[in-house]
Amino acid sequence: MELEINPIKHWLPQLNNPLIIAGPCSLETEEQTMETARMLARDHRVFVYRGGIWKPRTRPGSFEGIGSIGLKWLQMVREETGMPVGTEVANAQHTEEALEAGVDVLWIGARSTASPFVVQEIADVVKGTDAVVMVKNPVNPDVQLWVGAFERLSQAGIKNMVAIHRGFTPFRETEYRNYPNWKTVIELRRLMPNLPIICDPSHIGGKREYLYDISQKAFDMGMEGLMIESHRDPSCALSDKEQQLTPADLAKLLDRLIIRNVRIDNKLFENQLELLRNRIDAIDTELLETLSSRMEIVRQIGQYKKENNVTAFQVGRFAELMEKRMKLGESLNLDRNLVQLLFQHIHEDSVRLQTEIMDKE
Ligand code: PEP
Ligand code: MN
Repeated sequence: MELEINPIKHWLPQLNNPLIIAGPCSLETEEQTMETARMLARDHRVFVYRGGIWKPRTRPGSFEGIGSIGLKWLQMVREETGMPVGTEVANAQHTEEALEAGVDVLWIGARSTASPFVVQEIADVVKGTDAVVMVKNPVNPDVQLWVGAFERLSQAGIKNMVAIHRGFTPFRETEYRNYPNWKTVIELRRLMPNLPIICDPSHIGGKREYLYDISQKAFDMGMEGLMIESHRDPSCALSDKEQQLTPADLAKLLDRLIIRNVRIDNKLFENQLELLRNRIDAIDTELLETLSSRMEIVRQIGQYKKENNVTAFQVGRFAELMEKRMKLGESLNLDRNLVQLLFQHIHEDSVRLQTEIMDKE
């Protein structure tokens, strides 16, 4: 079932570039809120000002947000700069207050998306309004949980929705704070092709030095914008100080980014692409035909092993095969991981086929 979802331009008609959302991780004081907003508003590439006021912190004891007073500051930002404003909501109370204050964009944080009860509570409050609701991916790479949040909002009549990729909790030490599992994003794109997806490089990277690469990758993958944390003076920020950029550094980052088109209107380019895609289609056909011939031989081997009462899986053979294929793959300039995964799958299916043959009377 395809959900009814509006493109970003529907609720942000002035958008003429990718959607850039920027602002501090947390609003701290009226002065910090306003000064950061003024600096960002001068860069006309920033379309929405963000500022967290209710902060979900992993451990208690750190700054948990300025609270409802921040709504007034967001209103002041909109009045003075004309920028739409957004904040994170994590329960019904936040959502009611934010709607009441006329906050233009609400977003559901990663920890909240992981909880269907919380998402439902928020959906019940926005029901019947024309709110813009963005949903960050859940902390674990469960695409169904992410999709479920959009379904709950859609059932509440919300059409202005955007997904935010902010990375997933790593299960081991990694250089990034949250690993960007691009596979999950591609899967979301496949399941919900009309859903705009933007990237939050700040929470993926966790450090300023990673932001450019992650942002460029997001555009290379056809994502429609960025949510980046920016603070007038990150060194004094009360939360996420290592990942925030000054507005000036944000401008430099945006200058360097190459924004790729998802589609372009150029006949020559399209014809050329079509030719290359035809070649890929032909090669894929050959690949599958070759795989099918391989399986035919596997079947014969299965029959032969059965007649000689030998097991389907032989560990020595698998190790030898893997080693040879990896070497061959390397000499053909193929990625090690690709070759390994490919042959693991092929071998697994060969064993399955052989055991099936053996089990047959
Ligand atoms: C945030 O945007 O400040 C935030 C807390 O994000 P996340 O939900 O991605 O951790
Ligand atoms: Mn943050």
